[in-house]
Amino acid sequence: MAVATTNSEVAAPTEKKVVKKIIRRKRRPARPQVEPDFFTNEPPPQTGTTFNIWYNKWAGGDHEAYQQTKSKGRCNVARDSGYTKADGVSGSYFCLFFARGLCPRGADCMYLHRLPGPYDVSAPNVDCFGRDKFSDYRDDMGGVGSFMRQNRTIYIGRIHVTDDIEEIVARHFAEWGPIERIRVLNSRGVGFVTYVNEANAEFAKEAMAHQSLDHDEILNVRWATADPNPMARAREARRIEEQAAEAIRRALPAEFVAEIEGKDPEARKRRKLESSYGLEGYEAPDEIHFAQGPSAVNPAGRRGFEVEYQERPLIEDGTVGETEPEAQEGNQQQPAQSAGVFSSSTLAALGRAKVAVASKPAAPASTGPLVAYDSDSDE
Ligand SMILES: [Zn+2]
Repeated sequence: MAVATTNSEVAAPTEKKVVKKIIRRKRRPARPQVEPDFFTNEPPPQTGTTFNIWYNKWAGGDHEAYQQTKSKGRCNVARDSGYTKADGVSGSYFCLFFARGLCPRGADCMYLHRLPGPYDVSAPNVDCFGRDKFSDYRDDMGGVGSFMRQNRTIYIGRIHVTDDIEEIVARHFAEWGPIERIRVLNSRGVGFVTYVNEANAEFAKEAMAHQSLDHDEILNVRWATADPNPMARAREARRIEEQAAEAIRRALPAEFVAEIEGKDPEARKRRKLESSYGLEGYEAPDEIHFAQGPSAVNPAGRRGFEVEYQERPLIEDGTVGETEPEAQEGNQQQPAQSAGVFSSSTLAALGRAKVAVASKPAAPASTGPLVAYDSDSDE
């Protein structure tokens, strides 16, 4: 039993890599959501008293009228998403028309046609569609939102009042990403949905604007105001801290994290032994001890970068330098992409310094009158 478990653990990383590649190749192209001639040149329906030709929008008059116009499309993530021209480009934004179910471009679109995932984090001053955020929210809490606060909660108004509002809201809003919390005020037809990720809240707000749930209502979707409850505020602050910690954790080697968090009580002792590199009383600083890449001085960091028939550095008397890779313990070593904090030349210099120091103890062996002149001999 025990042997079988170990085997699967060892085999897992290589299998994972293969699966990843297959998925990438098999992804299908994004589907155009509407016909190309869907957008005609006729002006939008009159929803105000003045038509602004620059913004192609009606202004003034009754704002309610605009609210009562039902959205013309609705995104169906399962059916519509797929790769677009944006998938090969890092830092691409999500397609606003896709979210609204109205993108006619399909695979030719320059924006992403899929749901944001946990690692799709855009800069704090823009939303996931690449639109600039503002310092303040609009008075009606509509629009892109504010960069002053991470907002993952959207407000939903004008829900048709029934007994099962909560279930209906949960079903419709779960389409746009993982949800953390849902609160519903049954009698008032109002709900609050908090997503796990901010990008999903941004996406959902656009996707559900002016849509209907199970009844033929037209929803009013906006940003929720900050929860005045001190417990909720503390929870939000803690969450942002945890998010930052998680980002750091992902960027650092697993052993380093285990040491900082004190999860491995032996780590401290082991570290002292390993990072001395044979020098009594010496302990390499973190940047050196945890450096990864082909030129790392620590054996663990160099694992996976060994040259196959690499000659080990020899000391004069023919003994092998102690650069032997340490025994297989902790195979959670991720394949490192970068050489770490230090440049390769610095690390190489450190490596040379180490060999030079290690060779010193050989000197006392040569006894005789020359020992006395040793310090002067290399002029
Ligand atoms: Zn698009």
